[in-house]
Amino acid sequence: MTTIAFIGLGNMGNPMAANLVKAGYAVHGFDLVPENLVIAREHGVVIMANAVAAVKDADAVITMLPAGKHVLSVYADIAAKAKKGALFIDSSTIDVESARKAHATAAKHGLLTIDAPVSGGTGGAAAGTLTFMAGGSKDAFAKAEPILKPMAGRIVHCGDDGAGQAAKICNNMILGISMIGVAEAFVLAEKLGLSHQALFDVASTSSGQCWSLTTYCPVPGPVPTSPANNGYKPGFAAALMLKDLKLSQEAAQSVGAATPLGAEAAQLYALFNAQGDAGADFSGIINFLRGDPA
Ligand code: NAD
Repeated sequence: MTTIAFIGLGNMGNPMAANLVKAGYAVHGFDLVPENLVIAREHGVVIMANAVAAVKDADAVITMLPAGKHVLSVYADIAAKAKKGALFIDSSTIDVESARKAHATAAKHGLLTIDAPVSGGTGGAAAGTLTFMAGGSKDAFAKAEPILKPMAGRIVHCGDDGAGQAAKICNNMILGISMIGVAEAFVLAEKLGLSHQALFDVASTSSGQCWSLTTYCPVPGPVPTSPANNGYKPGFAAALMLKDLKLSQEAAQSVGAATPLGAEAAQLYALFNAQGDAGADFSGIINFLRGDPA
């Protein structure tokens, strides 16, 4: 039986690990938070005492951690202790530079690696329908694909080391900017006396059409499943949107790309977070733009 080590059993990691157990893998898990280990055990994950113990017998190692510094620190601990020929998959959303450093750390020990961040949120993690964006060699990707399948709706090989993280932050920069654009249009429509539904009916079938409007509409009504109908409960928290926009701006700076709207979106989400809305869904930025209190 293939054994998979899963390090980082939080909101995303736990349901992802559960889907690997359901698919018949032996999953050896570790997290720093005891409550998360309790949930993982209930899903059939074998709990290990630490990350090194988790990777010892594993054919593949998946990390799902908050940020680059956590991934680099865990990789530094485990790379030398992993089984020969093991495959390392990092699904955390982290900066491209740290992702490439993580690849290099593992490569020093002869390990195959891919960066494979995801989109689809906790709902997609539970349903096994995440989109994985992978960066790494063809060999590493070929080995990773069957392991990712039970957690995935779609798996895209984006290119070499770091390409998965690059795709993730570019996509989420589009998302942050487009949500602000859609929200501004609804605020303007309100002031012009145009109903939410009328704007939606026109824009959703016109050139203003986009995911932020038709799937994740920031006003209640037109799309009943959007977080606007549920008090702006996430969904995708504003804190995570800010994290991804900051990553996009760090990356833009490091390569000299001009992303003025990405920079503005990062500023607006920083202000929205600072007024106490970091835990709200990111589409709640419409209330901030309207000038409504937190
Ligand atoms: P989370 O905070 O719920 O989980 C991260 C887990 O990592 C925590 O349980 C924490 O205890 C654990 N951890 C931290 N350092 C560790 C260490 N040294 N050893 C073992 N465990 C350690 O976060 P999450 O929502 O599961 O997100 C994980 C990653 O996925 C992040 O990079 C996030 O940006 C990305 N992501 C999240 C979502 C989402 O909707 N939540 C969507 C897409 C991508």
